[in-house]
Amino acid sequence: MQKIPLSKCFVNDEVRNAAIRALESGQYILGKECKAFEEEIAAHTGTKHCILGSSWTMIVYMLHLAQEVKPGDEIIVPSHTAFPTMEPLIHCGAKPVFVDIDDTFCMDVDQVEAAITPRTVGIIPVHLYGHPVNVDRILAIASKHKLWVIEDCAQAQGAKYNGKTVGSMGNFGAYSFFPSKNLTVLGDGGCLTTNDDALAEKVRMLRNHGRKDKYLHEFTGFNVRFNEIQGAIGRVMLKHLDGFNDQRRAVAARYNQRLKGLVVTPKEMPWAKAVYHMYVIRVQKRDELQKFLKEKGIETGIHYPVPNHQQPAVTSKFSNIPSLPKTEAAVKEILSLPVHGEMPVEDADKVCDAIAEFHGRK
Ligand SMILES: *Cc1c(COP(=O)(O)O)cnc(C)c1O
Repeated sequence: MQKIPLSKCFVNDEVRNAAIRALESGQYILGKECKAFEEEIAAHTGTKHCILGSSWTMIVYMLHLAQEVKPGDEIIVPSHTAFPTMEPLIHCGAKPVFVDIDDTFCMDVDQVEAAITPRTVGIIPVHLYGHPVNVDRILAIASKHKLWVIEDCAQAQGAKYNGKTVGSMGNFGAYSFFPSKNLTVLGDGGCLTTNDDALAEKVRMLRNHGRKDKYLHEFTGFNVRFNEIQGAIGRVMLKHLDGFNDQRRAVAARYNQRLKGLVVTPKEMPWAKAVYHMYVIRVQKRDELQKFLKEKGIETGIHYPVPNHQQPAVTSKFSNIPSLPKTEAAVKEILSLPVHGEMPVEDADKVCDAIAEFHGRK
């Protein structure tokens, strides 16, 4: 029996040749491949600047330092996201203020305003599973209360909100290139997109020891640099990104059509062109279904089983964290089905056949 993986990385001769080209160039860090990759991401996103870094987590940490996020600051985040979303702000001594989710699994925009206090400095909405949040409403709230917005695009490279690419609408966008993401460099990496000249320059310097030029350090920075081999690989991946995202959407469309009535299928809002980093269903007998699919060689996942407002790293540090009923209910029912940029629609059919069989519909 052919196994169906949850996700899969694209590797072909174009990718191999790009890595070899970088390997033989004699330049290994922040050279011309990185520069070209930054320019190509900025063009694809529609922003003035792109700054590569060693991961989403570290480049966002550099951004928070540049923004001077400080102890006592509050930042509004969803709890239902990857844990790293709130790591940089916690390192700065700030407090994550959690809001619950809506039916798209993204931050419930209706709850954001009530979470704002005089200490609030920013909002980090997450385009979770590749589905864009209601950006216009977030930006309207942010502008009314003079807050910055960082779009967490780690799961949504290439997704569109009313025709605009995510990462181009908030003050900042942040991407991750971890191997499972829609845009990967087959290793760790991330980047920031922005139109803010001053903060872009500051983040650029912070990622490279506060350097102004080779031997002149304006402030104390870090090493959060990016490598040429990964830059070269990323450039190939970026060329294929929209095609892969289309294939993810084709797989999602087939799942939607065949799973309707069997399980709760994911919603796509009228403003959204989602890129299905994950295709997440809700089902009551989730653990039984996951086991059943595993026995049939179908790999699934749970993103995420423990919400961040209940993580020991958070509960041991912050008190009076309110409960989030929708998040807490969702984590017991969510199941991520296989989807990736090269997945044949026929494999989605096999997954649907198995889910139908589980429900006694065969
Ligand atoms: C993967 C991910 C991150 C972290 O990215 P790294 O590059 O691994 O640091 C942040 N936010 C979300 C939503 C993610 O999925």
